[in-house]
Amino acid sequence: MKVFERIDQSAGLSDEEHLLLESVKRLSREKLAPRAAELDRTAAFPHDNIKDINQLGLNAMFVPEAYGGSPVSYAAYLACVREISAACASTGIIWATTFHAMKPLVDFGAEEQKKRLLPRIASGGLGALAITEPTAGSDATGMKTRFTPDGDHIVIDGGKTFITNGDVADLYLLFGKWSGEADDRRAISCLLLEKNTPGLSVLRTEDKMGHRASSTAALAFERCRVPRANLLAGPGEGLKLLLASLNRSRPSVAAHALGIARAAFQDAVAYVNERRQSGRAIIEFQGIQFLLADLAAELAQCEAWLWHVARLVDGGAADFGIEASILKLRASDLAMRIATEAVQLHGGYGYCKDYRVERLMRDAKITQIWEGTNQIHRQLIGRHFTEK
Ligand SMILES: Cc1cc2nc3c(=O)[nH]c(=O)nc-3n(C[C@H](O)[C@H](O)[C@H](O)COP(=O)(O)OP(=O)(O)OC[C@H]3O[C@@H](n4cnc5c(N)ncnc54)[C@H](O)[C@@H]3O)c2cc1C
Repeated sequence: MKVFERIDQSAGLSDEEHLLLESVKRLSREKLAPRAAELDRTAAFPHDNIKDINQLGLNAMFVPEAYGGSPVSYAAYLACVREISAACASTGIIWATTFHAMKPLVDFGAEEQKKRLLPRIASGGLGALAITEPTAGSDATGMKTRFTPDGDHIVIDGGKTFITNGDVADLYLLFGKWSGEADDRRAISCLLLEKNTPGLSVLRTEDKMGHRASSTAALAFERCRVPRANLLAGPGEGLKLLLASLNRSRPSVAAHALGIARAAFQDAVAYVNERRQSGRAIIEFQGIQFLLADLAAELAQCEAWLWHVARLVDGGAADFGIEASILKLRASDLAMRIATEAVQLHGGYGYCKDYRVERLMRDAKITQIWEGTNQIHRQLIGRHFTEK
């Protein structure tokens, strides 16, 4: 595995970031990984994992110092997402979703909003990012949730579906359309919705194939009033903010997928070294070696690309959307491929729950679907090369 350790050295983390990552690795190994199978079985929200994450103060890395945080590089954040997700993909996506939802507040929020709302995230609050609706998935501009101004308030009516952390979040980054604005794209706006706001209700949580311990909720808004002070982006600004926030969250979901890919690769390698057939370890069969070689080559290249994108972000690049799409596409397809091959390499045992690879295969599938399906990413990447 030295190959992968060397690639990680190119992430360029500082000494403090290495120490932080070591503590995340310890947490993942000692607490998160041992609980993952039971959480998958019961589909219970992993409150203990979130408590342990908060004991390490990991949310602080999302938040600037002025609002109670202790920021790190994007590369260090991605390394932590990958580590947590390798141990428990559900916990990984719960934690990363808080980052996805709150980064736009950090980047685009007014000073008053940040002072008021960010300290509760820094100290362990959960965030949710609410874009998808029953009739607006891949095409978010089809959303129907309405924001209607009413004096010092905005009244929200509508609903969202498939919202990670939707039933447990302290703060929601919510997208909707401004009433009276006829242009569908211009109408998209964004506000911050606080937990327990009257008119916000959780309709149900989904019973899923994988990521079973992360809650995925359908939400309804019925004359839900929020102060105008919580508006983050009005008409004409919301879509820009939506695209900017997806650019930050896509490398993060890729790091999450790579966590699953790494865990599956590690389990596959361990098994083929240990399992014996025809008088020898199955890794000695050339067909098995060729498969491992292909998986290792793809994983190595994808991890190198992860740090390439992290460097772009940490270097202040303004436009890295295509690189982020390439990363999301590759990392998630690879997670699915490695997890599927890991099951295959475990033979019949891989199909049973005694081995982690069964869960990893189920957890991997959604990574090809969320944060833009991989068809949509292929379209974005392909379109980029259209000569104008
Ligand atoms: C577990 C889970 C967690 C989620 N978490 C969140 C969350 O926190 N916040 C949030 O807002 N959303 C979340 N989502 C929603 C997720 O992002 C959407 O499911 C996804 O964007 C796809 O939308 P859809 O399900 O409506 O599928 P559709 O858009 O209806 O797509 C159906 C199929 O058609 C294909 N398709 C659609 N348009 C095109 C096209 N133009 N070209 C080619 N193919 C196309 C798609 O690729 C897909 O295969 C989550 C979903 C799940 C299942």
